[in-house]
Amino acid sequence: SFTALLVEKAEDGAISASVQELPDDRLPDGDVTVAVEYSTLNYKDGLCLAGKGGLVRSFPHVPGIDFAGTVETSDDPRYLPGDKVVLTGWRVGEIWWGGYATRARVKGDWLVPLPDELSTRDAMAIGTAGLTSMFAVMALERAGLSPSKGEILVTGAAGGVGSVAVAILARLGYRVAALTGRPEAAAYLRELGAETIINRAELAEASTKPLESERWAGAVDAVGGDMLMRILKQVKYDGAVAAIGLAASAAVPSFTVIPFILRGVSLLGIDSVMRPRDERIDAWSRIATDLPLDKLDDMVAEYGLADLPALGQAILDGKVRGRTVIDVRK
Ligand code: NAP
Repeated sequence: SFTALLVEKAEDGAISASVQELPDDRLPDGDVTVAVEYSTLNYKDGLCLAGKGGLVRSFPHVPGIDFAGTVETSDDPRYLPGDKVVLTGWRVGEIWWGGYATRARVKGDWLVPLPDELSTRDAMAIGTAGLTSMFAVMALERAGLSPSKGEILVTGAAGGVGSVAVAILARLGYRVAALTGRPEAAAYLRELGAETIINRAELAEASTKPLESERWAGAVDAVGGDMLMRILKQVKYDGAVAAIGLAASAAVPSFTVIPFILRGVSLLGIDSVMRPRDERIDAWSRIATDLPLDKLDDMVAEYGLADLPALGQAILDGKVRGRTVIDVRK
């Protein structure tokens, strides 16, 4: 049997979550069974825990879009019992039982062997949030960004995606400006490597100007909405913005193509869920070298399965700082 955080839906539609002991035959079909050690908490997990956003199609459900652990049994020749593996995305934790359990069964194609430099706990301190930040940095590099081009802006900086993006970019030698709505997070963000702290209010409102003064060589945006448009209007000639998230909004009412056609600015879409396996392997190996692991400790808080319902609500309320690791055995 295994222990899982099971989310159930009552006949009246009410969602509840509780830690339960389940027989192994409740696991989905798949070719690799993993003894999960750690999972984590992303914004999407908050939605799945609350049954919001239409992400979970059928109940009862085990959420957890990320996990890391040790292979127990495998019908996939690429994995042997004892191998350390990490999984993010592929809609695991949404339409497939996920990482909030001591055991998971998945397709071998979805797993990535963990680089030797990283522990399973490190992998979940990084999680989808960190992997997506790495994809964003790699996309910006492909678009020509380098530290000599100037300052780079990270929005939602005190959140999971933002925190890891700040740490990676600072490590790579970029001058990082961290935008946050939480002034009390300034010291934390400086510790991660941010040089400048920008108050969220400074860029929150739509601007009626077609362009603003050129300020950023590039940006990693977790926020979306009119703030994304403000940033695009402030990006330097030929710069690029990696759009990761929608913490403020998916809609950009003030949208204009002017920055694209007058300044050659690029908007780079970043998805982490369906990235091919070889790109994930590359990104995890870049994380192993480019993310200062000592900085991870500053951004991580650790909890157990039973804490998840409250944590899920906290991340939806924008109250979670940095990254949350879940020790599923606790
Ligand atoms: P998170 O830890 O909750 O971080 C989001 C941060 O955004 C918050 O900490 C807050 O940062 C800021 N924020 C929240 N509400 C805001 C608002 N109304 N206006 C402006 N800023 C606001 O979540 P996360 O896991 O890092 O995810 C961030 C976003 O990226 C989410 O939208 C998520 O769905 C998305 N995402 C996308 C992918 C992908 O594959 N594209 C992968 C992972 C995540 P401050 O307190 O510092 O202001």
